[in-house]
Amino acid sequence: MKIDEILKHRSPCFSFEFFPPKTDDGVEKLMATIKSLRILNPGFVSVTYGAGGSSRARTLEVVKRIKTELGMEPMAHVTCVGHTRDELRALFEALAGAGIENVMALRGDPPKGEERFTVAEGGFRYASEMIEMVAREFDLSIGAAGYPEKHQEAESVASDVANAVRKVRAGARFLVTQFFFDNDAYFAYVERVRAAGVDVPIVPGIMPITNYAAIARMTAMSGATIPQRLLAELEARSDEPDAVADLGVAYTALQCRDLLDRGAPGLHFYTLNKSPVTRAVVSALVAARTFHELVA
Ligand SMILES: Cc1cc2nc3c(=O)[nH]c(=O)nc-3n(C[C@H](O)[C@H](O)[C@H](O)COP(=O)(O)OP(=O)(O)OC[C@H]3O[C@@H](n4cnc5c(N)ncnc54)[C@H](O)[C@@H]3O)c2cc1C
Repeated sequence: MKIDEILKHRSPCFSFEFFPPKTDDGVEKLMATIKSLRILNPGFVSVTYGAGGSSRARTLEVVKRIKTELGMEPMAHVTCVGHTRDELRALFEALAGAGIENVMALRGDPPKGEERFTVAEGGFRYASEMIEMVAREFDLSIGAAGYPEKHQEAESVASDVANAVRKVRAGARFLVTQFFFDNDAYFAYVERVRAAGVDVPIVPGIMPITNYAAIARMTAMSGATIPQRLLAELEARSDEPDAVADLGVAYTALQCRDLLDRGAPGLHFYTLNKSPVTRAVVSALVAARTFHELVA
């Protein structure tokens, strides 16, 4: 089923994102992880696209297996990095031919060690160009990336909004955001892009906090900011990994609850291929709903 249809019928729609492992053994472990999250009844699960090499083929392999072996709705991410238009066309043909109905169309980050994105010869410069081609030639539901705290390379907030508009006009049927820790950033973003005419669902991306060093590294890379008071609490626990993880799960659960209470259409979890934290957070949301129903 197409994700834009799923988002119309499920409220809230939980979804989980995974990355393709490097080895065959890793793929088997990932399939077990995804299976263990099936009990949470996600609307869809997505598999990212690597910067190159064998992991790219694994994206296709894993999305196919998610559909056929687990009966869950998959979405394949695809990036423009290092591909000609014809190669991308062949990739979308392979996905559509395998019965995959959903793709996340991205420009991609520069490969490791490179500072700037460079256009492949005969390739696309921007995600919007690839989205236009996919929308014209394929019957796929297309998602695109949104940035509550602005894409790092965007010249201004206004040009970032203009790009979201461009991607939706080109054919994106929903946006999934970069992760953030301050919900006001998400709601301000939704307001900005809605005012500019974007009317598709905007699903917030959620990065559960599990590890102090990892979260510091990922926020530096993505441009997401950590609210000062949360940062202070994390820093106070930086020598105690379990205490960081406990606070992380509690914070993420409350963040998610607030997002849903204020009207977010769903939650897209960056699982980092691990199930326990995502399961704990979603279980807290289910428990909160059950508790409210019980005491209502
Ligand atoms: C939900 C989500 C999933 C992701 N999955 C992956 C993944 O699987 N693999 C991966 O490698 N990366 C992934 N990324 C990261 C993403 O590839 C990077 O953030 C990348 O730097 C930008 O991709 P984009 O599709 O947003 O690019 P674009 O929308 O093309 O934007 C890139 C930059 O160009 C600017 N721009 C766009 N069009 C124009 C124009 N016409 N004129 C001037 N400036 C313009 C934009 O403002 C922006 O600064 C993901 C990000 C998100 C939020």
